[in-house]
Amino acid sequence: MMATIISDAPEKPSLHMMGTNRDISHIQSDDFMLLASAIYLSSSEAIMVTDKNNIIRHVNPAFTRLTGYELVDVAGKSPGIFNSGRHDRVFYQKMWQAIKENDHWQGEIWDRHKDGSIHARWLNISVIRHPDGHIYCHVAQFSDITEKKQKDDLILTQASYDQLTGLANRNLFKDRLAQEIKKSHRSGLLLSLFLLDLDHFKEINDTFGHDVGDALLKEAASRIKSCVREIDTVARLGGDEFIVILPEISNKLRIEMVAEHIIHELSRPFQFNQNQSAHHISTSIGIAVYPEDGTDMESLMKHADQAMYAAKQQGRGRFCYFTPAMQQKANEKMTLIHDLRYALIRDEFHVYYQPILELASQRIVKAEALLRWEHPQRGMIGPDIFIPLAEESGLIHEIGEWVFDQVIAHILQWRKQFGDTIQVSVNKSPAQFKHRNEKLWSEKLNQLRLPGRCINVEITEGLLLKDTPNVKDCLLEFRNYGMEVSIDDFGTGFSSLSYLKAFDIDYLKIDRSFTSNLVNSATDHALVEAIIFMAHKLDIRTIAEGVETQEQQDLLIEFGCDYVQGYFYSPPIPAKEFEKFMAK
Ligand code: C2E
Ligand code: CA
Ligand code: CA
Repeated sequence: MMATIISDAPEKPSLHMMGTNRDISHIQSDDFMLLASAIYLSSSEAIMVTDKNNIIRHVNPAFTRLTGYELVDVAGKSPGIFNSGRHDRVFYQKMWQAIKENDHWQGEIWDRHKDGSIHARWLNISVIRHPDGHIYCHVAQFSDITEKKQKDDLILTQASYDQLTGLANRNLFKDRLAQEIKKSHRSGLLLSLFLLDLDHFKEINDTFGHDVGDALLKEAASRIKSCVREIDTVARLGGDEFIVILPEISNKLRIEMVAEHIIHELSRPFQFNQNQSAHHISTSIGIAVYPEDGTDMESLMKHADQAMYAAKQQGRGRFCYFTPAMQQKANEKMTLIHDLRYALIRDEFHVYYQPILELASQRIVKAEALLRWEHPQRGMIGPDIFIPLAEESGLIHEIGEWVFDQVIAHILQWRKQFGDTIQVSVNKSPAQFKHRNEKLWSEKLNQLRLPGRCINVEITEGLLLKDTPNVKDCLLEFRNYGMEVSIDDFGTGFSSLSYLKAFDIDYLKIDRSFTSNLVNSATDHALVEAIIFMAHKLDIRTIAEGVETQEQQDLLIEFGCDYVQGYFYSPPIPAKEFEKFMAK
């Protein structure tokens, strides 16, 4: 085929195609020439022939279609006229080096069209030599792959960038971090990793909808980006979690400056619509530094995460460096969760009861079941420590059912001893509403022929706000069977009156923090009085928690509070002791 292209070349040599090294001179029949010429003319690939000095001699019609140049435009010129400016000198040097060594090169190249636009080509260059080895000509064949490249780029973008914010995604972040760790290792400069979580984002997303949530994430992303340098990487890991890599840090002060800057930027109100009110969020940042807090990706990420958790614990809207103490704390937590798994089997749990007094009659009519863990090495552990771990690990379901079974067994026994006088409050944390139990509490009561009024379920205010079908079904089940429901720790959460009414709540438990300030704080004094007044208007009875003194009791009587509970009467005590207490 090539023979045709060069058939009118100045000399008339017999030709060799290097590489295949086949002498094709003997097949220069007329038929073959005709066929080759037809292929040359009709080929959809552009073909350009340059002489031994790389000066353009021939081009085919496809070449004109693809580049916009006719033969007259380019004949006698160097292919340098197509140069797009996208490749550096080294690129062309390497290309010619390969051509020199192999008589062939193929690869991607960006060329300029006659109209100035830049196109990607897949280019094949072959050298054709005389039998004596001298170069006869170069044949360049190419097709346009701009569209394919654009598609590939899009796929690459989707694989590396977060669709919503345009930030790097987890994949790209991992690549970058791995690279930066290597660079830091060589340069000896510090590298810092920030893990960010937006505080209260979930509430805004749930309340105002995903459009607002998305807009907020986009805006937050651009604010974070505005705080860092070109060489820094900001990525979104998913949800409201962002991560920042700050490489090449020579002064640690810089880390703090950037963290402060990001916190400040994200604390400014977010306003998306003139008519709507502004949204407020904040961010908690956990910081880990290479190499002191970890030398690989996993440990840096883990430690930044622990530091972020600490920042949240310390009150959000702040940053926290990782410390070895955090690692120790995390280890302790892991060990405790591990031990918790065996606590039920090893019979280490005990249900204690704290009496609840009815003020009007001055009689114990209720008690709250409070769980205790007798750890074989650590001794008695309070529920404030292990209930959150049980929730986190999902063990709360098993434990919660065990507590309920214990409670109803005790009630059954006490009813035989003391008659139908005592109601037991059982705490049910929001995590316990996530699954549907195999067996309903009402069924368990029914099986023992116990009436619903034996049980008072203590839930938190936050649970009512969630208002999921599961929560609704559960509360309905309690109601239908005649169990009563209390709102625990009232006043510390989102206290919403309309919810109390809508969910048919029976009791409010006034949080211990109000009771303890009752005598000294005028505000709490007024608050408790108002809560009791309001509850009664809604036909809801009140239980004051944490009563420790006579003065507190007297005030509560004055306000018309219905029930009291606290150390003033009794701490939580084992079932056996509670029985004695009742017998008195
Ligand atoms: P809570 O429901 O608010 O329980 C009242 C807590 O206040 C109990 O702490 C009790 O010992 C303590 N307390 C009672 N009277 C006084 C007082 O006069 N002064 C002071 N300073 N404290 C008093 P405890 O037993 O450590 O329980 C802590 C929390 O653990 C409970 O708070 C409850 O939310 C949770 N919890 C306890 N048992 C269970 C359980 O079986 N299941 C679930 N889901 N949570 C439980
Ligand atoms: Ca409680
Ligand atoms: Ca409480």
